[in-house]
Amino acid sequence: MTVMPNVYDAEPIPQNALAAVQHILQTGDLFRYTSDASPVAMLEEEFAAALGAKYALAVSSCSAALFLSLKTLGLPRDAEVLIPAFTFGAVPSAVVHADCVPVLCECGDNYRIDLDDFADKLPDVQAVIISHMRGHTSDMDAIMALCDAAGIPVIEDAAHSLGTTWGGRNIGTIGKIGCFSFQSYKLLNAGEGGILISDDPDLMARAVIMSGAYEHNWKKHPVLQGAFAKWQNQLPLYNQRLNTLSAAIIRPQLTELARRVADGRRNHDHVAARLNQSRWIDVPAKLAPEQRAPDSIQFNLVDLERDQIDQFVAAAAVAGIKVQVFGQSADNARAFWNWQFLGDLPDLPKTRAMLMRACDVRLPARLTLDECSVIATTLCRVMDDVMQPARAYGT
Ligand SMILES: *Cc1c(COP(=O)(O)O)cnc(C)c1O
Repeated sequence: MTVMPNVYDAEPIPQNALAAVQHILQTGDLFRYTSDASPVAMLEEEFAAALGAKYALAVSSCSAALFLSLKTLGLPRDAEVLIPAFTFGAVPSAVVHADCVPVLCECGDNYRIDLDDFADKLPDVQAVIISHMRGHTSDMDAIMALCDAAGIPVIEDAAHSLGTTWGGRNIGTIGKIGCFSFQSYKLLNAGEGGILISDDPDLMARAVIMSGAYEHNWKKHPVLQGAFAKWQNQLPLYNQRLNTLSAAIIRPQLTELARRVADGRRNHDHVAARLNQSRWIDVPAKLAPEQRAPDSIQFNLVDLERDQIDQFVAAAAVAGIKVQVFGQSADNARAFWNWQFLGDLPDLPKTRAMLMRACDVRLPARLTLDECSVIATTLCRVMDDVMQPARAYGT
């Protein structure tokens, strides 16, 4: 039997993290504000430079970054925030955490925001979060044109799309604020962690203070110091800082980023081309201005009945590949009807239809093309096995 590649293990942390980690262990210097040369501050400087943003603030998670982003906008309690209905449960949760109310926007078969529904719902909201879910980039030109015309700020949830570009611009630098994750399933792995970027010094000053730069710790951030003085003692301290150990683990991975992006895209496109040869599978095309940085693949099942979907998932599992159909796996955090903490949930037929046949398979950048071929070929073979009898019946 074919040996299925392991898609779960993370890449090793680069060896050159070791010296910094050892120094931290020896000195016990884990808190970002104890020393003047904190690895957290260095990470912020390097990350901002890598993305082409003016400022960065490292925090404890992307959820914290999203929460702080909403807080820095100074929205009133119960302000409505438009988010895609296809996203991770952490996104509506961050909105609730910030005392705002999520409004869900339909997403289409290509996993991207439905622009008609977006335009319809935009007039009622005070902010927008665009989740580039699994790295799939919605039409940012159309979205920014609509939001700019309406004067509505855009936060980019780029948790899972670090390295993706849109029209040559880095995802996360297009809206007012960009948020990223360092959780282990993302391109840079610190176990947990996040970072937000922006070009707006006043907004960044507020975010820095609220992240837990109490007293005069903000003096250790090279953001316009005048902006900080203005906000001294005016804002709550939510204490969502990143510790130095996490930053020391992330920093050496920044130099790996370009390679991980290129290899992830190569792997994805290789598997996509093979899967698209199947009559029963459709990998939606990306939008033209987008250069992707995937570490997984999503595809839609075409003309499969419910029991055939179950058979396909079961047969793939027997062959050693975990296929998750977002809407069919129990309690999936990316299926909006499971966000019952929101209370009454809207009916979103387009997004629901997509989720009921959209599959998710991990495809880490470290896989070789041969390993990717094994995954692609196995999925196609399993599909043929499941659908063969159906085809015979149908004729
Ligand atoms: C992972 C993820 C998050 C949450 O990131 P955390 O760092 O775990 O809080 C938010 N949005 C998307 C699209 C994600 O993939």
